[in-house]
Amino acid sequence: MAQVYNWQLGREMSYWYPENHPKRQFAAVFDTNKCIACQTCTLACKTTWTSGRGQEYMLWNNVESKPYGFYPLAWDVKLLEMLNSGEWKGNKYDGQTIFESAAAGERVMGWRPTPQDYAYPNVGEDDCTGQVDVGALMQIPHMNWFFYLARICNHCTYPACLASCPRGSIYKRQEDGIVLVDQSRCRGYQECVKGCPYKKIFFNPMTGTSEKCIACYPKIEQGIQPQCFVNCIGKIRMAGWISKPNEAKPDNPIDYLVHIKKIALPLFPQYGLEPNVYYIPPVHVPAHFNRQLFGPGAEAAVKAYRNAPNDMDLAGLLHLFGSSEMIMPRFHRQGETVTGMDEKGNKIVSVPMHEPVHIRPAYDKLYQIQRTNCP
Ligand code: SF4
Ligand code: SF4
Repeated sequence: MAQVYNWQLGREMSYWYPENHPKRQFAAVFDTNKCIACQTCTLACKTTWTSGRGQEYMLWNNVESKPYGFYPLAWDVKLLEMLNSGEWKGNKYDGQTIFESAAAGERVMGWRPTPQDYAYPNVGEDDCTGQVDVGALMQIPHMNWFFYLARICNHCTYPACLASCPRGSIYKRQEDGIVLVDQSRCRGYQECVKGCPYKKIFFNPMTGTSEKCIACYPKIEQGIQPQCFVNCIGKIRMAGWISKPNEAKPDNPIDYLVHIKKIALPLFPQYGLEPNVYYIPPVHVPAHFNRQLFGPGAEAAVKAYRNAPNDMDLAGLLHLFGSSEMIMPRFHRQGETVTGMDEKGNKIVSVPMHEPVHIRPAYDKLYQIQRTNCP
């Protein structure tokens, strides 16, 4: 095992391979507060990539209702029970990662789901933690809650799927950090399925190989965001590039949200993979639950998000989500207009932070008609 630095843990950790960063790293921010669980993302991915034989059960993108939704069943709670997770001391993780907890002779501590675990992909949909009292829904946070968690492969900095593979069939692309399976090398041992704590790599029984989210790399190569991003009805997603924390650029949307505002956080950082999909935590969920999912910065992130109306740059950037299909590596706000730009600073899109409201008169004198959509 090599020693590598994991900034999300605030310390070095053991990993099967030495540190080897790509030229740039694909990353994303998902705003959980805006997801409506319409599953458009799920279907956009399904119809693009996994409509073939042997792929019927695969959902490279899924959306589950937390805390009772899972795909596959119990993917997170099962591992949390196995992991000697320890505590966070400030921003430093004091417990063991899945690499450090591996048994002798194994590279990663993991488990492999059964076919039955994949049988109910939307189990627990809209299940709340308890009965909501009459009128309670008007107060936030209220005692009983649920929220939607959209999930794809995290294209981790230290992928467990890659570390687990005895054939060396999984690789991380140098040009963008996207994690892929070399189909010609894979022999279907399924060690990757066991190793990935997020269960985002799947075995295809028809081909005898493993398959996973490819971050729509043919689109990324043209500067376009993946299918599940551009089809997102709730406009919760933004794709881009993440820098190392000490190299964060204030005009890079992902850096700004993750490193500067620290409002977007990794999912289960304690597993140790340095995942590259970052979540703005739900504001109405108990702090201890957010902390378990998103780490020690969750409470401060919720506070910063709530303060967005007083933080023009943050509010402006949140308006940019879902405003263009292009990746916007840079942004700029001037007054009440926020602009997404390419690397060279050329404008991709400008979005007003306040749209004017037009109330049409019920009777249109010009056309002499009564409008039925007016009171
Ligand atoms: S989320 Fe899982 S499948 Fe994706 S890169 Fe990380 S370990 Fe591999
Ligand atoms: S398309 Fe967007 S809003 Fe709809 S479920 Fe997916 S992430 Fe949520």
